[in-house]
Amino acid sequence: MEPAAEIVVDSPDVVYSPEAIEAHYEYRTTRVSREGCVLRVQPTATHFTFRTARQVPRLGVMLVGWGGNNGSTLTAAVLANRLRLTWPTRTGQKEANYYGSLTQAGTVSLGLDADGQEVFVPFNALLPMVTPNDLVFDGWDISSLNLAEAMRRAQVLDFGLQEQLWSHMENLRPRPSVYIPEFIAANQTARADNLIHGTRAQQLEQIRKDIRDFRSSAGLDKVIVLWTANTERFCEVVPGRNDTAENLLRTIQLGLEVSPSTLFAVASILEGCAFLNGSPQNTLVPGALQLASQHHVFVGGDDFKSGQTKVKSVLVDFLISSGLKTMSIVSYNHLGNNDGQNLSAPQQFRSKEASKSSVVDDMVQSNPVLYAPGEEPDHCVVIKYVPYVGDSKRALDEYTSELMLGGTNTLVLHNTCEDSLLAAPIMLDLVLLTELCQRVSFYTDTDPEPQGFHPVLSLLSFLFKAPLVPPGSPVVNALFRQRSCIENILRACVGLPPQNHMLLEHKME
Ligand code: NAD
Repeated sequence: MEPAAEIVVDSPDVVYSPEAIEAHYEYRTTRVSREGCVLRVQPTATHFTFRTARQVPRLGVMLVGWGGNNGSTLTAAVLANRLRLTWPTRTGQKEANYYGSLTQAGTVSLGLDADGQEVFVPFNALLPMVTPNDLVFDGWDISSLNLAEAMRRAQVLDFGLQEQLWSHMENLRPRPSVYIPEFIAANQTARADNLIHGTRAQQLEQIRKDIRDFRSSAGLDKVIVLWTANTERFCEVVPGRNDTAENLLRTIQLGLEVSPSTLFAVASILEGCAFLNGSPQNTLVPGALQLASQHHVFVGGDDFKSGQTKVKSVLVDFLISSGLKTMSIVSYNHLGNNDGQNLSAPQQFRSKEASKSSVVDDMVQSNPVLYAPGEEPDHCVVIKYVPYVGDSKRALDEYTSELMLGGTNTLVLHNTCEDSLLAAPIMLDLVLLTELCQRVSFYTDTDPEPQGFHPVLSLLSFLFKAPLVPPGSPVVNALFRQRSCIENILRACVGLPPQNHMLLEHKME
């Protein structure tokens, strides 16, 4: 893989010191007001000063569900890249890479060179970021298999690669975890042989101890916790139980209902570690969000946006933004991995269905020419467990849109690939971008007090199916708007204007 180019921005608005990059930045946007049937649009500008610490920490990642398909695949991918492994397959020699990672394999355009040609650099060249090969992994799983055995169970990687990784993974053992049977499917019971016993309060304490132990024994500057364990059923939000930070902590002390994922979120927040939720359930209940805000800790979620939903958030955006009226979206999935088995239970399926179904809302609402208030396309999601296909998930979609003069257009898509090889690079990006955001602070001309991003890290929306955003903030699902958000905020941190794609230089005589 090409090494990242170094970028130096030559501008009086950007100051490089050994500790930080400081950029003065004019945030230009608009404010709209309604006067009868006139919309008044006012351009506005706010002056920001961004400061990004340049020192990249030694970063530890703790995966909840470490021994699952995603957890073992991500660990294997980082080891394979670190060890520069190559292996033979029936189609030739393959080598380790980070395809599918926005930060490692995506690029951004810096601008035009003297010949008028665009210069592209890897995303990770914009600002100092942790190198994935330097990540240190640890984690928990209710299944006691070591990571080598977990990799074999997952059946994701070529045998030649598994063989070379075996000795590097067999000593990695997931820590015992919290198992509350009513939250995941009954079909998971057989693998639950690695458990933290005791009361909820004792379990919380044990998770916190595990985080501290990992941090000190591996000599880490920072730890980020990522939930990639099974999808849980939704947890009812009940006033007095989990609606405020105080009530949530009391609920844990009293041993009332709390999901394992929320317990992990609370432990991470109390240890000052960012917590990211890669599954669809509502782990970050209002009490957990309030706790994150009180402790100034980042949280992000929900549910990795990897395959079918990612395509949907491109395709429906393309259709509606082109002026076509999408009226029906039907998605079938079948998969045969353990995630699929867990999702074959109704309550866990419902979490996934909810997470998958809100994904076109922003696109529909953006076009009042096509859709009357409250009108939306029919949207149906089906998931079936078919053991034979293993991790090679099949996703079939049908999109039907209305054309002019009564015509219809039906698009049918068939998507086949290893689910975990899509998810692992997304997990990587989540961790690397969250860590980067922890090193960014800013102040504005109206608010001179330096601050960080809001604890609900909506900048990660590109990577999540059902993005969590701060209260009152619009939810953006459209993929390229989400990508532009990350790109333009990173550009702002080095004093570069937002990418506007106008190429006016090439539109003049
Ligand atoms: P998996 O079933 O292979 O792995 C989950 C692991 O979590 C298992 O090893 C299981 O033993 C463990 N586990 C269950 N409950 C636990 C607990 N309380 N504490 C610790 N460990 C626990 O599933 P996967 O394919 O790795 O997917 C993981 C999650 O990511 C699922 O919720 C899935 O829906 C979600 N997800 C996956 C993708 C993808 O593309 N692979 C995309 C979006 C979301």
